Amino acid sequence: MAKYIFVTGGVTSSLGKGIFAASLAKLLQARGYRVTIQKFDPYINVDPGTLNPYEHGECYVTEDGAETDLDLGHYERFLNIPTSQANNVTTGRVYQTVINKEREGAYLGKTVQVIPHITDEIKSRMLLLGQTGDYDIVITEIGGTVGDIEALPYIETLRQIRWELEEHDTLVCHLTLIPYLKSAKELKTKPTQHSVKELQTIGVRPDILVCRTEMALTDEMRRKLALFCNVDRDSVIQCLDVDTIYSVPLDMAQEHLDITVLKKLQLSAEKPCDLSKWTNFVNTLRNPKTEVHIGLVGKYIELQDAYKSIHEAFIHAGVSNTCKVKVEAIHSEYIDEHNVEAKLGHLHGILVAPGFGNRGIEGKIVAIKYVRENNIPFFGICLGMQCAVIEYGRNVLGMKGAHSTEMDPKTDYPVIDMMESQRKIKNKGGTMRLGAYRCDLKAGSKSISLYGSEHISERHRHRFEFNNTFLSAFEMAGMIAVGKNPDKNLVEIIEIPSHPYFVGVQFHPELKSTVDNPHPLFVGLVKAALDYKHGVKKTKVAKVTVEA
Ligand code: GLN
Repeated sequence: MAKYIFVTGGVTSSLGKGIFAASLAKLLQARGYRVTIQKFDPYINVDPGTLNPYEHGECYVTEDGAETDLDLGHYERFLNIPTSQANNVTTGRVYQTVINKEREGAYLGKTVQVIPHITDEIKSRMLLLGQTGDYDIVITEIGGTVGDIEALPYIETLRQIRWELEEHDTLVCHLTLIPYLKSAKELKTKPTQHSVKELQTIGVRPDILVCRTEMALTDEMRRKLALFCNVDRDSVIQCLDVDTIYSVPLDMAQEHLDITVLKKLQLSAEKPCDLSKWTNFVNTLRNPKTEVHIGLVGKYIELQDAYKSIHEAFIHAGVSNTCKVKVEAIHSEYIDEHNVEAKLGHLHGILVAPGFGNRGIEGKIVAIKYVRENNIPFFGICLGMQCAVIEYGRNVLGMKGAHSTEMDPKTDYPVIDMMESQRKIKNKGGTMRLGAYRCDLKAGSKSISLYGSEHISERHRHRFEFNNTFLSAFEMAGMIAVGKNPDKNLVEIIEIPSHPYFVGVQFHPELKSTVDNPHPLFVGLVKAALDYKHGVKKTKVAKVTVEA
């Protein structure tokens, strides 16, 4: 049977429960345990797919096509194993299931209530992954903050699970904030004591206190926290602010978090914790040999979380080039022909971001024209790739007003169009082309040499596609479809072989970049940006011919 670790949060949100959960999982994985992480979110949306990125940041898509919370991205990047629909549950999904069952008559005339019906549904989902036999340890992160009305059914379920299982089969880690008061020059433990009290009122006693702090805790404070929060002395874990999230597993190992956790779960800590690869990664990250500047052109740039996986993929790709990637966020809405040089001229590469809707589209197209004509490395993701196609259609093929039918349904040149199967769909939630699809690569392309394989699989989240009616015209003019989905003949990757690095992908490569496996196309972009920076741009680019 699997062991269950729960991660709750107190005092405030945004303490980094996801990073903590991923770091703990990493330590246990490094000791040879099979670990997975799941997140329970207390909002009513059935999934975050319909949420504006300004609300909760990017929507992370799993292999099986679930639209999930961005914390699942951290889980995958840290553990290097895929998550699935089962790893993210929202209150909306729980209620939807219960209400559907009620309509089917499954409750046999009973009054359907939060307790036991909602809590039973939560319980079965909390225990599900542990019952597959695939994992030794399941870590469950409970979204929100203890004390929130919305989080109550989850905490109550966790109380019941603890009551039902053996004591050493479950564990609660409570993440909390120890604020520093400048005027008093003191760290304060009182908010933590209150949040533990809050948890105890609902019948849950935390086993481990994880204290987020900007200053080191003194021994006296650790003793005080242990005493007043009713935890063991070695169960007060300090989690200091750090320069990179990737150092958290190493810092947690310093605090012997893994040893404390394994002891409480009565699991062996005999196998040493092998973090050598991870340590090398963090060392390289902290000591880059050089740096490149890459522009991230998008419309949600005020919020880092909106492009979380892209930022992380750049960190991974930077490390594999021993280079710091400085990502400069550029608002596409404010780019035009007059200022494009001033805004992009100093960069060594640009990435045009995914997105939906009309806002900022023309700025993206202007940016792409500029980098295409100036041989600056370019990487377009999803809408970014679609914009590259529109730009090429308009400016190289002379297709005046070429567009995606998403923005201009009446365009004379619908170079990006909706698939027939998408047209009849009315519901917005969960109906895009989602999850992993196969893609075959063309010999001679940049993509095939970077992937090192002819057959790949990547994750999607979009409704619109390259319109194959125009494909031969584009290929004759020098933009080649080098990646195609073999089942539906859909264009997945375009390249301009005469350009040093011009790659557009219909899928989301950023979702598959991990510490262990940096994504080849991000690695390729950073490498191309380095070459560009070091003047390789001045040497003539070898002509690569790709058979159309
Ligand atoms: N809006 C585009 C589509 O639906 C692109 C989506 C995206 O960039 N994820 O096809």
